[in-house]
Parts: sequence; C-alpha cells; structure tokens
Amino acid sequence: MRLANKIILITGSGSGIGKSSALLFAREGATVIVNDLDEAKGLETVNDIHASGGKGHFIHADVTNPESVLQMVNQIIEKYGQIDVLFNNAGISGVGALHEIEPDAWDRVIQVNIRGVYLPSKYVVPHMMERKSGNIINMSSCVAEIGLARRASYSATKGAVLALTKSMQVDYAEYNIRVNALLPGTILTPFVENFLKTSYDDPATALASIKKRQLSEELGSPEDVAQAALFLASDESKFMMGSPLYIDGGATFG
Ligand code: NAD
Repeated sequence: MRLANKIILITGSGSGIGKSSALLFAREGATVIVNDLDEAKGLETVNDIHASGGKGHFIHADVTNPESVLQMVNQIIEKYGQIDVLFNNAGISGVGALHEIEPDAWDRVIQVNIRGVYLPSKYVVPHMMERKSGNIINMSSCVAEIGLARRASYSATKGAVLALTKSMQVDYAEYNIRVNALLPGTILTPFVENFLKTSYDDPATALASIKKRQLSEELGSPEDVAQAALFLASDESKFMMGSPLYIDGGATFG
C-alpha cells in the first residue's frame, strides 16, 4: 500500500481525473476526502470507494468560496487531525481566443482555476506548517507550456498554477512541504468531451488535430494521470520539489 494511513483531500473529485485519483488513492490505503461542487457526483465517488473496500468521505464545498473552503478544512482537521496531501484538482474549461471571451466568462475561469488552488492551499498550509510535513499537488496542464488554439483564459490559468507551484515550493520548503504540478495533455473526460462538443462544428476533426500534436497515437485516460498523481502523493517522489510532471503523450515535447 503506497498511501497507507494518509489523509488526502482531492478537490473536484466527483468526475474525471479527480475521481480516478480518488479511487486509486483509496485502493493504495489512503483515506480520501472527496470534494466537489456537484454533490451527486461526489457522493457517487465515495460510494464507489466504499464498494471496493476503501475509505472515503464526501464534503461539499466550492473551491472559489473562502467560507466554504475554510469550513471544509476545519471539518477534516476536526475529524482526522491532519491533511497529509492536498490535491488541487478542481478546474473548468474556457473556450475562445482572447477577443471572443466575455469578461464574466474570463473571470469565472480565473476564479475556479487559480482562486480554486489558492484558497484550499491557504487554509491547509498552516496545518502542514505546524506539523512540518505536507505534500501539495497542483493541477496545471501542458497548455502552460504550449500554445493551443482558442484556449486563452484556460492557458493563462494553467500557466499561473505552474508559476504558483514554484513560488509555493520556495516559501514552504523549510516546513518540509513539497509542492509539485501535474501537466496533462488531452485526457478523455467529461470536461474534454464537453469542450469538443461546444467549441467545434466537427469534434472528430478537432480530436484528430489534437492527437496530431502528440507523439503517442493514443489519447490519455484519467487513470494515466491518476498514476502520476499517485507517484507525487507517495513518498516515492520525496526528492521532487517544485517540479512539473508531464502526462501528455509527448504533446509538450513534440
Ligand atoms: P471534470 O470536469 O471531469 O472534473 C472536474 C470536477 O471539478 C467536476 O466534478 C466539477 O464539478 C468540479 N468542480 C468544478 N468547479 C468546482 C468548484 N468551484 N468547487 C469544487 N469542485 C468544482 O474535469 P477533468 O478533465 O477531470 O479535469 C480535472 C482537472 O484536470 C482540471 O483542473 C483540468 O483543468 C485539468 N486538466 C484536464 C485535462 C483534460 O484533458 N481532461 C488536461 C489538463 C488538465
């Protein structure tokens, strides 16, 4: 068991990569705190964890809302006494070249994808500092490093998350807190299916052109990213600090 006795909070784990990670982490012995804005999906993740004999607990919270996040963190500390790993996974898509994006839509992507990393970290870090032990995984994306068409707001947020990861690492290294980032390529989840459907007249051609950017002929799966997250969450990655970890079929490299 690679995560035995660890208490792990995963934001946005009612779906996609977060859900796969929650199931995998629970199989590896962690107690997983499943957070999501969507209560039905979050509860489904926890039911699936319980069905396979794991330990999970759902907490409804909006990662953009300070009161909601603080309440969630306090609830976890009260019940479990600690948070060993915080996986800032929740995120939403943003579509359009910069001039096509309305200010409200721009702000929403910034709110969820950046404030949604800032707030859980802000309230979890003091507990980790006190224990002189902690591990934070931030969800960035390969769009932090490569330009993809019509992803202006989304790319801006994921670049910010990568920069924030490095800044956090420098600030908290002395407290024995590691902070690393995941940079997935295109992973088939409801998020991407929805993005393709709503952004392109011909989603199949769009998908083919996304595949062309990769070296791999296959698209990534949520399980591929969950395996990388498991490595970062485990002590096996103890020498990784402030690092980007690519899970992108060579999209960044190619
Ligand atoms: P998904 O839509 O399947 O899951 C995201 C989950 O986050 C959903 O369950 C949603 O309800 C939840 N969420 C959204 N806003 C929230 C909020 N304010 N508070 C709490 N929960 C909230 O998406 P996914 O593809 O699994 O993406 C997960 C993360 O991975 C995102 O940060 C995304 O940007 C990133 N990512 C995804 C891909 C990809 O190709 N799928 C690639 C790179 C990075």
